Amino acid sequence: MTFQALGLIDPIQRTLDTLGYKQPTPVQKQAIPVVLAGRDLMAAAQTGTGKTAGFALPILQRLTMDGVTAPKAVRCLVLVPTRELAEQVYESFRTYGGNLPLRCAVAYGGVPIEPQITKLRKGLDVLVATPGRLKDLHDQGAISFTLLQTLVLDEADRMLDLGFERDLDILLAALPKKRQTLLFSATFSDEIRQLAKGMLKDPVSIQVSASNTTTKSVKQWLIPTDKRRKPELLLHLLKKLQWGQVLVFVKTRKGVETLVKTLQEHGISADSIHGDKTQPARLKALARFKQAEVQLLVATDVAARGLDIEALPQVVNFDLPTVAEDYIHRIGRTGRAGMEGEAVSLVCADEVEILKAIETLTGQVIRREEEPGFEADHRVPETGPKGVAAALAKKAAAEAPAKKKRPFTGPAGGTAAGKASGGTTASKAAARPAGGDASLGTWTPPVPTAGKGAGATRSAGGKAGTGRIYGGVGKPAAPKGAVVVTGGRGAKSLARAAGKVTAQPGGRKPKSGSR
Ligand code: AMP
Repeated sequence: MTFQALGLIDPIQRTLDTLGYKQPTPVQKQAIPVVLAGRDLMAAAQTGTGKTAGFALPILQRLTMDGVTAPKAVRCLVLVPTRELAEQVYESFRTYGGNLPLRCAVAYGGVPIEPQITKLRKGLDVLVATPGRLKDLHDQGAISFTLLQTLVLDEADRMLDLGFERDLDILLAALPKKRQTLLFSATFSDEIRQLAKGMLKDPVSIQVSASNTTTKSVKQWLIPTDKRRKPELLLHLLKKLQWGQVLVFVKTRKGVETLVKTLQEHGISADSIHGDKTQPARLKALARFKQAEVQLLVATDVAARGLDIEALPQVVNFDLPTVAEDYIHRIGRTGRAGMEGEAVSLVCADEVEILKAIETLTGQVIRREEEPGFEADHRVPETGPKGVAAALAKKAAAEAPAKKKRPFTGPAGGTAAGKASGGTTASKAAARPAGGDASLGTWTPPVPTAGKGAGATRSAGGKAGTGRIYGGVGKPAAPKGAVVVTGGRGAKSLARAAGKVTAQPGGRKPKSGSR
């Protein structure tokens, strides 16, 4: 199937040709006709499936074909949970709408609101925003929803995780009842279904891949080791497997900075993204990584969503995340748009509970590879099928009652359970060729497609009528003609998620999180 067959207008078609998008992805095939027809949509689609174009292309078409904006008015609102995703989605709208006479802007917290209010006076066709700042803009009378025709909730599951429920309720009450609503979520919990029930009218449901599954094009494995050995192990893997650029996830902000320091001391170029950094600093670090000025980008989960990096072959979970869903989003940073990717987790004994939670969520046991010389003293308990693990635990306890007390792991050097659950022996691991593993299939670095990612082909200045609203002392000046909007809320709320606590209404009260 071609994009033309989906009924997209010529200016959009030309943009897609320029981007090198030859065929719609499955989510695009299903979503585009539904959105063009004005129907509500509930889509289970995770990042990397092309879902952004799935809603952005038909929305841009409808906005072009029908009506104009007015002062303070916004015709399409896209709500997203984090600043990074806001930037990403905004960039996509700018790119996909590059040949269209539409005004787009992005709004998230952390920068002064006044320049945003000024920019919004002219009215917008599309506003991508985090709920907190949008609510602030609305409270100040800076934005009107009277012309709103389409509302998109992107990564709705994450929005609830981050405590935006109350802000969403307030905003939804302020929106016109007659509108088109599209809800995208990587996972569909009962909470999300409840939210959908209240806001969607007779929606078409689509599911691109089974919810809560990880992208198939990403090969996943883990290396059990001790916590203190992780930096050394990472350095060892970088050398041994001759990795190119790697996105490394670390649980805490402090952990990120410590690791960056260690890497730099070993002559490896690395930069960081985490919640203590200003938005311009985060964007700069991302740009340096995208331009291959640094080999490693070390990030907390604040970066796990919304980062779209062309041809990123390698993600390393230096620490497992605090929330199991974040694992899916982290590894979704690689294996994008049909390319192959690899995600390696360095797992220590005290991460076994979250490992189990991840494996339960994804419905698969992550393959284990012992790395010779880095075997864990505090062994990481096997996480295979419960019965096998429990039986082996009992057996091991019976066989070695006098042994030093440590978490159950099963017999050393790989066990029946380990093999049954994807575990491998040290000798097998040693046989793994550089950059790949026979048991995983040969790893070939992905070749970038002719078409760049949504953001990659945009000219530096952007087109007239689009942009950001920037502000803040000491922050870089906005590009000429830029509109701003900001969020801060995302970062604050991330703190809550870091503590694996229940989402708090409103997302307003920042807790001292560590991400
Ligand atoms: P998303 O899931 O929306 O974050 O998109 C993931 C990546 O796929 C982005 O880099 C897009 O630019 C790219 N992409 C989206 N649709 C297509 C397509 N039809 N053909 C090729 N690449 C695409």
